[in-house]
Amino acid sequence: MTPNWQNLVRPNIWHLAPYSSARDEYTGSEASVFLDANENPYNSPNNRYPDPLQRELKSHVARIKGVPVQNIFLGNGSDEAIDLIFRVFCRPGKDNVVAIEPTYGMYSVCAAINDVEYRRVPLESDFSMRSEKMLEACSQYTKAIFICSPNNPTGNAIDRKEILRVCEAFSGIVVVDEAYGDFQQGETLTTALATHPNLLVLSTLSKAWGSAAIRLGMAFANEAVIGFFNKVKYPYNVNQLTQNEAQAILSRIDDVDKWIRLILSERPKVMQAVSLLPYCQKVYPTEANFFLAKVNQADKIYQYLCDKGIVVRNRSKVTLCEDCLRITIGTPAENTALLSALRQWEDRG
Ligand code: PMP
Repeated sequence: MTPNWQNLVRPNIWHLAPYSSARDEYTGSEASVFLDANENPYNSPNNRYPDPLQRELKSHVARIKGVPVQNIFLGNGSDEAIDLIFRVFCRPGKDNVVAIEPTYGMYSVCAAINDVEYRRVPLESDFSMRSEKMLEACSQYTKAIFICSPNNPTGNAIDRKEILRVCEAFSGIVVVDEAYGDFQQGETLTTALATHPNLLVLSTLSKAWGSAAIRLGMAFANEAVIGFFNKVKYPYNVNQLTQNEAQAILSRIDDVDKWIRLILSERPKVMQAVSLLPYCQKVYPTEANFFLAKVNQADKIYQYLCDKGIVVRNRSKVTLCEDCLRITIGTPAENTALLSALRQWEDRG
C-alpha cells in the first residue's frame, strides 16, 4: 500500500528543520580553498569531513545492487537503519511495531530503547511466516512490520509471496532484513521496491562481503523514506575510512563470489556431519551462512565447545529454538575443528 507519509512519520520529524553541515551547503567541485568547516588545513586527507551523503559510494552500490541512488541510505551498519526506523516513524509510548518471532534481537532492543511496543508473532513450526497472522497482530498504531529473510537465527528464507501480501495489505513500513540475502537462492526483494512504496530492504557488508569491521549497512526504500532518514541521521554517519574500504571491497566482487561459493559448498558437509551425531535431534534447512541444530543438552555442549576454544551461538532459550545451537560456517579447517570436537562429546543423556 502507498502510505500517507504525513500520518506515518512522527510529527516532530515531519516538521524538523535538519542540521545543515558545511558539506551540505557547498556541494560544488570547483573550489580549491576550503575555509568553511573549521577543519585543520594540515594532516591530509583525514583533516576533511567526508561526504555526508556518500555520493560516490552510493553510485557504486547502485550499480552492484541494481537500485537507483535516490533509493539508497547508507549507515553505520544496518543497525543504524533499524534504529532510524523507530526514530522516524514511531511515537514513544504510543506506536508499536510487529515482528516475526524468533528473529534478530536488535529490533526488540531498538524498540525498547525508543519506548515502542514490540509485538511478536510466532513463526510456524517449520519457521514459515503466515501473512494473515502478521496483519492480525497490527493495530491503528502499528508503524512497521519486521521480517528477516533469510531469518536469523532460523536460517530459512520467508516466502516472497507472503511478504508481498503483507506489503499490499499494510499501510505502514514493511522492513525486510536481507543481511544474509547474498547467500540465498531466491530473488532479492529490492526488485519489488518500484511497485511497493512501503517496502524497505536492509542489506549489509558485514556478512557475504566479509567486512563486518568497517560498519557499512544499507537500506533500500522509497525516496520519501530515504529523505526522512537523511533528515534524522548524524551529519557524517559514515566515516571516510569506511567509505574507502567499502569502495575497495565492492570492487572485489569476484573474490566475494568465491567466498560465497566456498561457504555454500562447506555448508551441506557440516550440516550432514552434525545431523549424524548421536545426540543431534535435527538440523534445520537454511539459506544463510549458518544453520540451527537441535541437540540433547545444548547448554552443556555449548560450554564444552567454549572450553575447547570453539564458540557457537547458544540459542536454546529462544522461542521455538529450545535446545538449539546456531552454527556459522567457517573455513574448512575451522569446520573440521568443530566437527572433531563435537564427535568427542559424549552424550550423557
Ligand atoms: N540484520 C541481521 C539479521 C543480522 O543478523 C545482523 C548482524 N548479526 C544485522 C542485521 C546487523 O548487521 P550490521 O553489521 O550491518 O549492523
